[in-house]
Amino acid sequence: MNKEELIKVWETFTEKNDFMLNPDKKHVEVLADGVLKLEKKHGLKLCPCRLGDGSFEKKVELLCPCNFKTHETWLNPKKGMISRCWCGLFVKRK
Ligand code: SF4
Repeated sequence: MNKEELIKVWETFTEKNDFMLNPDKKHVEVLADGVLKLEKKHGLKLCPCRLGDGSFEKKVELLCPCNFKTHETWLNPKKGMISRCWCGLFVKRK
């Protein structure tokens, strides 16, 4: 899967949901590059902005998309920001 295909999959994932891909396309592309790089290294599409500990449990937790609605950045976004996953790949629809 290449970057464009991955972004298309993410777009499809957001359809009919209360979140969407970050409108900052450059940010999304950087994250897609990171996910694909980790997939090449570890065989799994892992979160590009959080560290694992090598355990299987942590890898499952860091599979992208993750369970981001439990993140503090989703539940209690900083003032002036909208809810988002930790990396800012997915943001809440307005
Ligand atoms: S924080 Fe965002 S980019 Fe990271 S795994 Fe979760 S959904 Fe993916």
